[in-house]
Amino acid sequence: MEETNGSPSKMMKKDEEINGNDKHIIMVTGGTGLVGKGIQMALEKEKKINPNSHLNEEWVFLSSKDGDLRNAQETKKIFERVKPTHVIHLAARVGGLFANMKYKVEFFRENVMINDNVMECCKDFKVKKLVSCLSTCIYPDKVEYPLTEEKIHLGAPHTSNEGYAYAKRLVEVLSRLYSEEYGCNFTSVIPTNIYGCHDNFSIDGGHVIPGLIHKCYLAKQNNTNFTIWGSGKPLRQFIYNVDLAELMIWTLRSYNSSEPLILSVAEEDEISIGEVAHMIAESMEFKGEVIFDTTKSDGQFRKPASNKKLTGLHPEFKFTSLKEGLATTVKWFEENYSKARTQSHD
Ligand code: NAP
Ligand code: GDP
Repeated sequence: MEETNGSPSKMMKKDEEINGNDKHIIMVTGGTGLVGKGIQMALEKEKKINPNSHLNEEWVFLSSKDGDLRNAQETKKIFERVKPTHVIHLAARVGGLFANMKYKVEFFRENVMINDNVMECCKDFKVKKLVSCLSTCIYPDKVEYPLTEEKIHLGAPHTSNEGYAYAKRLVEVLSRLYSEEYGCNFTSVIPTNIYGCHDNFSIDGGHVIPGLIHKCYLAKQNNTNFTIWGSGKPLRQFIYNVDLAELMIWTLRSYNSSEPLILSVAEEDEISIGEVAHMIAESMEFKGEVIFDTTKSDGQFRKPASNKKLTGLHPEFKFTSLKEGLATTVKWFEENYSKARTQSHD
């Protein structure tokens, strides 16, 4: 896909209109993050298969350099400049278990501010469709498994990430309220743990897969042990960022309901942190010792989500296997070590 020089945003070039449809200006907040880059990769992939696939779409990927979405005026200026017809809202303060435990107030406040500003502007600027991003980690800690779309508010979230969880739950509430009161077409998706190229590989602040890849890389370089935090027994479902991106693009184009939609691999694909650590060690050809530091928190034990609603609506979708996705991510990290994101919020 060609790119224009819409500095500082990355703008995908608009082509001629097709089928007489109106042109769609699709603005992606958080367009430089793990999922935003995944969307860029998914669009490139789609365009290779079908060069006409987005002729009536202009994609605009925002970073925080385009404006601070915690600030109402800056957010409004972005909407005035870009004039989006559609928005995929990814921008958020995001972090792994240990960052969430340490900065609950910041995770709550920053995400509430960002979401409030973006949703209000989508209403004011008459955006035709908004797709926002929740997470399975916002669900009640004590709830009957598997998690389904109806269970988001059925109890308190796990204490480890309650700042982030309550802020994100409000996005689901507001999507419905804007739809009811103003007729807005706002919806949300609920991914499980995400991983892939362009992740934040911060050891202290990041999620488990990028953190483990970085730690294994250093252990291999320095001939030290590869240390996993916690017991390694907790279970997670992992989705590859390009798979999630393809599903979010499909959601934007084809899912027409304000009800949230879980975007996840199958329940049977739940895997322990210990097993993932060993897969990473194998993929990185690490021959040293893998140890578990049980003085560190395990966080929530599991949060298995059902993808039945998704597979009912989009049965042909094929997920990338964890083995393949990890191999691609590890290779990307090894090749991009000097420029990969590794910063925490400290
Ligand atoms: P990420 O890699 O940390 O990227 C965050 C993005 O948000 C970056 O583009 C960042 O811009 C932007 N951003 C952050 N604060 C901003 C601000 N104040 N103003 C403007 N832009 C700001 O996050 P991600 O993993 O792609 O997450 C995308 C979405 O998925 C989030 O809504 C997250 O809650 C959700 N999610 C993530 C996971 C996961 O495992 N990663 C799981 C479930 C749900 P810069 O690049 O300029 O900093
Ligand atoms: P969560 O799924 O929201 O809990 O977030 P994470 O992606 O941070 O995963 C946390 C799980 O991975 C917990 O069981 C941690 O004990 C475990 N874990 C093991 N090593 C690491 C690590 O290096 N970083 C992180 N973030 N978690 C780790």
